[in-house]
Amino acid sequence: MRFDMGHRYGAHMKLVVQVKLLPSPGQAAALEATLLACNDAANWVAEVAFGMTSRRNYDVRKRTYANLRAAGIGSQAAQHVIKKVCDAYTTLKVNIRAGNLGEPGSSRRVRAESKSVRFRPDAAQPYDQRNLSFALDARTVSLWTISGRLKDVPFIGSQSQLEQLAAHPRGESDLIHRSGMWFLAVTLDVPDPDPHEPDGWLGVDLGIVNIATTSDGKRMAGRVLNRYRRRQLALRRKLQAKATKSAKRLLKRQRRREARFAADTNHCIAKTEDLTGIRARVRLRKDQRSSLHSWAFAQLGRFIAYKARRSGVAVAYVNPAHTSQQCSECSYTDRNNRAGQATFACRACGAILHADVNGSRNIALRADAAWLAGRQSSVPEPVLGLVLDAA
Ligand SMILES: [Zn+2]
Repeated sequence: MRFDMGHRYGAHMKLVVQVKLLPSPGQAAALEATLLACNDAANWVAEVAFGMTSRRNYDVRKRTYANLRAAGIGSQAAQHVIKKVCDAYTTLKVNIRAGNLGEPGSSRRVRAESKSVRFRPDAAQPYDQRNLSFALDARTVSLWTISGRLKDVPFIGSQSQLEQLAAHPRGESDLIHRSGMWFLAVTLDVPDPDPHEPDGWLGVDLGIVNIATTSDGKRMAGRVLNRYRRRQLALRRKLQAKATKSAKRLLKRQRRREARFAADTNHCIAKTEDLTGIRARVRLRKDQRSSLHSWAFAQLGRFIAYKARRSGVAVAYVNPAHTSQQCSECSYTDRNNRAGQATFACRACGAILHADVNGSRNIALRADAAWLAGRQSSVPEPVLGLVLDAA
């Protein structure tokens, strides 16, 4: 495992903005018919792919694309349908490999492996710039449907969503039908906010013994949040003293960011705790276990990196080796320092600490060292391809 710092200057990340469509009854009928047609098509492609030895996009497309076009599916939509199917098979494969569907031979796994993947008649359909366009000023979209191009479909979004839509390049969008309402989930390519110079670290323990459990997580999160709030309060006072229009705007933005940061931090902890027991539930052979770990590490790591980057919070990945055996007071490292699962007792200096507190402090010390060394991140793409080597 390396010491890595998550932030790179000039880096970009994906942000998803969801706007609500307000189609007329006639437009809604066309959208509904479109999802139905695309998911019918997807189910057919899935059956074809199920019988193929290679389910790579290129191979599946060769066998299915012409039929989809003949059935009236637009060329972009047809490619998205095929990709949706291939992605579903890849996800299934990853889940099976990770043991999420049980051991080989278990009824759940057999069921999943013995038939083609299926899509709900109203499952989301991806669009891109070629078959979906935005008129931001008019607040309408125009998009491909099975009954021709649909123009001037009104949409609504919050002020900040509209600003983000206008400010950043758009990638793919998902057309979503949920509880009788229509949405577009638009992917934006957003530059990273510059991280604040950190004055503390939130240690998230991805340790092997308690994978992704942070019994001290809440306490640590609370400390970091308080420090963050104090810092933001000082900034707010400074802005309030100014009382200009732009200062007010900054204040508003800052309050929102603070609320988000609190929510994000808590979400991180909640998410972290969701992964507790993943090892207990899944019994795998030893060689499979290590791949389950890297899967869980990568999932959690990606989530934390994403949330942190959204809030402009720096991320440092540190080598967690021996953080539970090392004394955060005197650095003495000994396996016997650990008196039990919950208690750390140093054989050299006699310090007695909660084991997780001691571990978190060690991680914070290492993060500080990495930050002070000014190391640039060697994580290639934190949102999509973060690699957390298991120690
Ligand atoms: Zn000590």
